[in-house]
Amino acid sequence: MSRYLIDQYQALEVYTPGEQPQDQQYVKLNTNENPYPPSPAVIAAASREAGRLQLYSDPVCATLRDAIASLHDLKRENVYVSNGSDDILNFAFMAFAGRGGRVYFPDISYGFYSVFGGLHGCAYHTIPLEADFSIDPAKYHRRDGMIVIANPNAPTGLALSARDIEGILRANPDQVVLIDEAYVDFGAESCVGLIGKYDNLLVCQTFSKSRSMAGARLGFALASPGLIADLDRIKYSTNPYNVNLMTCAAGAAAIADNAYYMDNCRRIEATREAATERLRALGFTVLPSKANFVFVKSDRVDGGTLYAELKKRGVLVRHFDAPRISDYNRITIGTPEQMDVLIAKIKEIMGA
Ligand SMILES: *Cc1c(COP(=O)(O)O)cnc(C)c1O
Repeated sequence: MSRYLIDQYQALEVYTPGEQPQDQQYVKLNTNENPYPPSPAVIAAASREAGRLQLYSDPVCATLRDAIASLHDLKRENVYVSNGSDDILNFAFMAFAGRGGRVYFPDISYGFYSVFGGLHGCAYHTIPLEADFSIDPAKYHRRDGMIVIANPNAPTGLALSARDIEGILRANPDQVVLIDEAYVDFGAESCVGLIGKYDNLLVCQTFSKSRSMAGARLGFALASPGLIADLDRIKYSTNPYNVNLMTCAAGAAAIADNAYYMDNCRRIEATREAATERLRALGFTVLPSKANFVFVKSDRVDGGTLYAELKKRGVLVRHFDAPRISDYNRITIGTPEQMDVLIAKIKEIMGA
């Protein structure tokens, strides 16, 4: 830090991304990337646009927003697109809470929520998960600030029903309820269908996980036109060209090729169920996941040791050295072949 940085930023707790090693070929099961490549149509669309990089992208992202809207039976005014959904979360904390504004989210959830809360000086409060790591929706009723829930939650993988979300929306008519559906395509129930009924619902999704585009940085929000206009106000006050030319075209092509991605999601779900069974057979506690990862713990190896021993053997998983979850590891669901390597290495570690 330099002596020029203003006070308000000096004490910030910044987000620590999962390791992205550029040196060694790891079996990379640590940041919930999709193990399957983008569809050929997406690669072709991005390459086509690469030849036009001298031009600015469309600030409205009309084609992409229309494609996302029609996939969800919504209108362009219900869709906001951004440079990754982290950007939307950032804007939401800025727009709907801000300095001193109250925000509520689970104590164990996506690490960025508290980072954005700190960045914008919000008065954020965490609500403890139940002993089994589930969310009790009643604890989010009648709150006096914005509510943020990842559904399915990360890193647990546990999901709430759309009915539970509706209860939260109904019990907080004057608050924005942000549902982060980064992992919803892997078998959970989306609450997008409630957008017409609740103008306080803001749903965030991303192309990073189910659509194999983490490196392209594309996220989107679905909500009532008012909330979308609010996000647009912030975008036009920071960076109107927030989605680049290649990503814009790639995103539209990905929506056009939706079946390819949904097939991959079903494949990943099947791999997840198989991995869950195999890990349980090895004595692991595995939370029932609706995401593209599993949250696991063994009584025989502690979380930190398992992480380190797997890394030594070329397999990267995610360990959080945090209260309540330091016994656990979050393991991304890869291809069946990658999961075979994982299981073999775990057996080796447990046998030793
Ligand atoms: C991965 C993830 C995101 C962010 O995704 P982007 O790559 O920024 O679109 C948001 N929320 C949760 C819970 C995530 O796991």
